[in-house]
Amino acid sequence: MPDRAAILQVGPLGEEIDQELQAQYDVLRLWAEPAGLDAVAKRGAGIGAVVTSVRHGCNASLIECLPDLRAICSWGVGYETIDIAAAHARGIVVSNTPDVLDDCVADLAWGLLIAAARRTAVGDRYVKTGQWRSIGAFPLSTRVSSKRLGILGLGRIGEAIARRGAGFDMDVRYHNRRERAGLPYRYEPSLTELARWADFLVVACEGGPATRHLVSAEVIDAMGPKGIIVNIARGTVIDQAAMVRALVEGRLGGAGLDVLESEPAVPPELMAMDQVALMPHVGSATVETRRAMGRLVLDNLASFVAGRGLLTPIRA
Ligand code: NAP
Repeated sequence: MPDRAAILQVGPLGEEIDQELQAQYDVLRLWAEPAGLDAVAKRGAGIGAVVTSVRHGCNASLIECLPDLRAICSWGVGYETIDIAAAHARGIVVSNTPDVLDDCVADLAWGLLIAAARRTAVGDRYVKTGQWRSIGAFPLSTRVSSKRLGILGLGRIGEAIARRGAGFDMDVRYHNRRERAGLPYRYEPSLTELARWADFLVVACEGGPATRHLVSAEVIDAMGPKGIIVNIARGTVIDQAAMVRALVEGRLGGAGLDVLESEPAVPPELMAMDQVALMPHVGSATVETRRAMGRLVLDNLASFVAGRGLLTPIRA
């Protein structure tokens, strides 16, 4: 049997993928090494690839410990904890798992939008705790169909969210740094103006320092007391303290949040508000999509090891 390629796996990625990596490669499992980075420094020579995720990351110090590193294969689409610049400076290629998770993240964005507007989670509790019988009719909520949908970040996931908007007879507009050609959605060069126009603002851009607090107090105020913000991107994109204040003071109508600034910490105000629907960062977390993401990590790695290059390289 030929020598198996040596790889470093930064953290666990689920039983199926972990087992397949062990079966096919000579894996140094960083999270299981009591000596941590010292173990990598000792055994780093010969390791040609790292397998990681945005949660586990791959910073410049780790890259430095691996003199033979040529590829980083990451699970998930965001990569703000991977030092892409340090990798690219050394000619190390990096992949993520785009496309395969778009539909599930878009589905969840709509689930949160409907939950915040129609209060479905509150209604569920209302029925299950017997209040339907004891109190009677549930308070009126907010219409979803035929409203104005603004999308911050019309990329792969943003586009899947926009497509679903057609089924709800919505007028869809978006804000990116650059306008995209050939799409039926109107581009809005100002995020604040998009927020002023929209009934619902769905945040679907990338995370990291470049988008930190892009949804500022000014953007939140532009949404107004009837506006609802949905975030399936990263908690850091919204000025969370400003959003919580606006919700508490009734200057913002509601929110549907899959992600928060310091997960898993949740501001107590959000826990107490019926106009806020929360999910524990599970945008891509379905059996089918998680399997597809694992497959794509393995396929990227196999293609790289076979000398055919990465299938889904990050070009940033
Ligand atoms: P993508 O295709 O790269 O789209 C990102 C979009 O954001 C692009 O349209 C980009 O347009 C826009 N953008 C980036 N920086 C911007 C800025 N400063 N101002 C305005 N727009 C900006 O990425 P994707 O695959 O759709 O994924 C989007 C994000 O979703 C990921 O980065 C990740 O953080 C998040 N995500 C969350 C979950 C979850 O579980 N909740 C799951 C998967 C992904 P321009 O370049 O023209 O600005």
